Amino acid sequence: MKGECNCGAVSFEVTGPVMGVIQCHCSLCRRYTGTANISVVLADRADFHWRSGADKVSHWRHPEADWESAFCQVCGSPAPGDNDEDRVFIPAGILSEGVDDLKVIHHIFVGSKAGWDEIGDEGEQHDTRIGVKS
Ligand SMILES: [Zn+2]
Ligand SMILES: [Zn+2]
Repeated sequence: MKGECNCGAVSFEVTGPVMGVIQCHCSLCRRYTGTANISVVLADRADFHWRSGADKVSHWRHPEADWESAFCQVCGSPAPGDNDEDRVFIPAGILSEGVDDLKVIHHIFVGSKAGWDEIGDEGEQHDTRIGVKS
């Protein structure tokens, strides 16, 4: 899989498998993307490789929540960031190659989704977080 931001400064490659798309509907992710949710895939750290622009990625850590956003300093596109010790999250919308077989497998924080957000796929719905392990 490959991906890049809108301006092309940030680009990367994923050389191992990912499980599928996870959509988070929480209010933090809604503000991060400006829409109903963020869709991400999780990759093992060892399978994730920056091709350019790792130094062009800014991070913002929420002062209270265990939540951090990552974005391109130049164009503002969401960018890959740390999910946990072992895995990187990758916003699915910035993937440009190798994505044809991806499907939404989980919706998280459905309990706090926007009233206008209607989920219409087969992904499993969870009120809050889940411990997703690959
Ligand atoms: Zn950019
Ligand atoms: Zn979220």
